[in-house]
Amino acid sequence: MSAPIIRQPGELHALTDAWLAAGQVIGVVPTMGALHDGHLGLVRMARESCDRVIVTIFVNPRQFNNPEDLARYPRTEQADAALLAPLGVDAVFVPDGALIYPPGHATSVSVTRITDELEGAHRPGHFDGMATVVTLLLNLTRPHRAYFGEKDWQQLQVVRQMVRDLHMPVEIVACPTTRAPDGLALSSRNQRLTAADRERAALLPRTLFDAARRIEAGEDAAPVLAQARAALAGAGFGPVDYLELRDARTLAQPQPGQPARLLAAAWLGGVRLIDNIAATLPG
Ligand code: AMP
Repeated sequence: MSAPIIRQPGELHALTDAWLAAGQVIGVVPTMGALHDGHLGLVRMARESCDRVIVTIFVNPRQFNNPEDLARYPRTEQADAALLAPLGVDAVFVPDGALIYPPGHATSVSVTRITDELEGAHRPGHFDGMATVVTLLLNLTRPHRAYFGEKDWQQLQVVRQMVRDLHMPVEIVACPTTRAPDGLALSSRNQRLTAADRERAALLPRTLFDAARRIEAGEDAAPVLAQARAALAGAGFGPVDYLELRDARTLAQPQPGQPARLLAAAWLGGVRLIDNIAATLPG
């Protein structure tokens, strides 16, 4: 059975009031739509561990630093609803822009330090926009748990920091990255790649996995990372915004023996791809 599409907070609250009164556990999966198997993995995780599941679909203009990227972002509400129908979702919340940011809206949530580098350095305003809309969506949906993908590793750490700092009453659950058979992380932006670039795109995860293996085997990280950047550039990626090894939680410089993450963002044919994998410096 397909889940009701809800556009008004009043309708949403009528549902969540009843669920909360019945002591049910609510999970929310925030998305920007154009759903694919990566999103559906989050929904399935929520479905397994919550009594009620809300999926939100909102293309948040404030987290796009590039107007062209916003204009070209796919909007596929009917197809999204069809993909969600077999998964037993209880509500799909699709708020209007004017509901989220009505005239006079003047509040922004800003997480400092962890947002300074990597995505933050290349996408000014992105994390403020993301943190603001996630706060709004959590306040509107009132979940016990919220599900985020490891695909957007820095986003996941920013959300965790925000929830800790603001004592927000929600558990953040991380879901592993869903990949295509050739290793490319699923993303709504992959649709924009030409057929040739789509084939080439698998070099991004392959390069990360190869660099991680070498670093974990004890090779010096700096030259391995430099070679990885050069390999991508040589294969037609450009520019490589970053390819860095960082502490997995703080995203500061990694320490031997501590969980670390290899994170990259690179352009291919005008499409910006991001990815990340675990890679710990030997202790
Ligand atoms: P988006 O619609 O791109 O804002 O993504 C919504 C949520 O789905 C975010 O928490 C993403 O990290 C997550 N997500 C997107 N792609 C993937 C993927 N390939 N694997 C796992 N999670 C993903």
